[in-house]
Amino acid sequence: MSPATVVTRFAPSPTGLLHLGHAYSALWAWQAAREAGGRFLLRLEDIDATRCRPEYATAILEDLAWLGLDWDGPVRVQSEHWAEYRAALDRLAMRGLLYPCFCTRAEIQREVAMAGHAPHGPDGPLYPGTCRRLSAEVRAARQAAGEPFALRLDMAAALAAVPPALFFEERGEGQIRCDPAQFGDPVLARKEVPGSYHLCVTHDDALQGVTLVTRGEDLKPATHLHRLLQALLGWPAPAYAHHALLRDASGRRLAKRDGAPTLRALREAGRSPEEVRAMVSQAGTGVS
Ligand code: GLU
Repeated sequence: MSPATVVTRFAPSPTGLLHLGHAYSALWAWQAAREAGGRFLLRLEDIDATRCRPEYATAILEDLAWLGLDWDGPVRVQSEHWAEYRAALDRLAMRGLLYPCFCTRAEIQREVAMAGHAPHGPDGPLYPGTCRRLSAEVRAARQAAGEPFALRLDMAAALAAVPPALFFEERGEGQIRCDPAQFGDPVLARKEVPGSYHLCVTHDDALQGVTLVTRGEDLKPATHLHRLLQALLGWPAPAYAHHALLRDASGRRLAKRDGAPTLRALREAGRSPEEVRAMVSQAGTGVS
């Protein structure tokens, strides 16, 4: 692979059937790679065992193949790689950048409500920092007692460990200055598994040599945090191209819960892959 090879990826979570919005995103990434003579990767982001289902994973592969998309190399399945994510967490923990958080969702909500005003970040209200202030003894005792805990990034410590100004490259916009602090202390490992969306996606994009991350603009804020993780862990910084989201006739974002047509339903209704691709590119007209 030459250093200039473009590598893109489509990284759905198998929590349901693909709809037209997914098809748009997948085609975007696939085209960007194919037009550049590059590589297009497929990754299943299935770390949330409560929401992901193997039958949806199978359906995603089938639906993409039906649509005429081909991918290079094996499909990476995140839930098969916990040891790799754990190793990345260990590197951060060794530098004192993580702390265990024992809080439940309800406890956090209560704290936030009590504070009166809750600054909001891209993932919701910012964590009030309760467990950051626990003593080493209390942490050790609660861990020893078997209390479940997540791992959070200590944002202040993390920011002190990287250059004062970080940037990511957004295609068509140029260098964007990162503001990772808007996330507060984000969760990098959930209570159930040694990983979180932010950690695993950034890890895998680096590991798989992705050079151009294409995804919906709803995930653009997350890039501020991903760039910080790259800087902390010495991972390369890919370029980014966030695309507009497909909307229905009333301007609402296509979503499964609103009954956006699935590729499966369109196929069963007799639509051909060519027709569906045309529908996607038509719906995508006017979105940048
Ligand atoms: N797995 C994420 C999702 O399905 C997308 C991850 C990404 O493209 O960064 O929303």
